[in-house]
Amino acid sequence: MKVVFHPAFHAVYASDPAAAPGRMEAALAGLGPDVAWITPEPAGEADLLRAHSASHLEHIRRLGLYEIAALSAGGAIRAAEIGMQEPCFAAIRPPGHHASRDSCWGFCFFNNMAVAVTALAARGLARRVHILDFDLHYGDGTEDILGSRPGVSIHNPAAAGRGSYLEEIERSLARVEAEVIAVSAGFDNHLEDWGGLLATEDYRAIGGMVREAAKRLGAGCFALLEGGYNHDVLGENVRAFLEGLSGEEGGRRRE
Ligand SMILES: [Zn+2]
Repeated sequence: MKVVFHPAFHAVYASDPAAAPGRMEAALAGLGPDVAWITPEPAGEADLLRAHSASHLEHIRRLGLYEIAALSAGGAIRAAEIGMQEPCFAAIRPPGHHASRDSCWGFCFFNNMAVAVTALAARGLARRVHILDFDLHYGDGTEDILGSRPGVSIHNPAAAGRGSYLEEIERSLARVEAEVIAVSAGFDNHLEDWGGLLATEDYRAIGGMVREAAKRLGAGCFALLEGGYNHDVLGENVRAFLEGLSGEEGGRRRE
């Protein structure tokens, strides 16, 4: 499976948990030799301005975070483009789903998902998009930028129980009509992370549901890393999700 990553994401660019030392090393630790690594370019200003105001770009510039945030958004665009052909994951940071058009919080600066989705439309690749955001936290920034955009649907599962959470995702995906399924993949709702809800195998199940839904629709699919802060389990959770999403386990494709 193709995974978008840039060594610059190892840099500790801030003092928040998403930027913590060793976090990207942990996220990638579970991935095997079957991964094809894709190196992204930074998102251009035109790409960023589809999702954000010029004053927000200026704000991020003043924070000294423009370069790393633009590279993260560029990674999201690359994953989305590849995702139209085959499942793709972007192992990127800073995360994005708390970045709105003109403001940001929660360790996010540019909304990687909104930049990617609007880039797909601008490049004529896809207009009807379903976004599944299974991060522990509600993706308010994505809702702010894309919530009223024609052709876009957004699902932040809200069920409080483990089984009902998975059922909610399955029910939602069964109703989806889209050219691409885009996932804000935050792993902070794991049993041993902040949310304390999902087991590692649940991420494999969710990845599989996305893959099946995309297959049914003849749609693309891609996923972007959002949260996930327990370095001891992040790697195995990412791997489980990618095994589900790609249908590959230890390099072997399951059909
Ligand atoms: Zn989160």
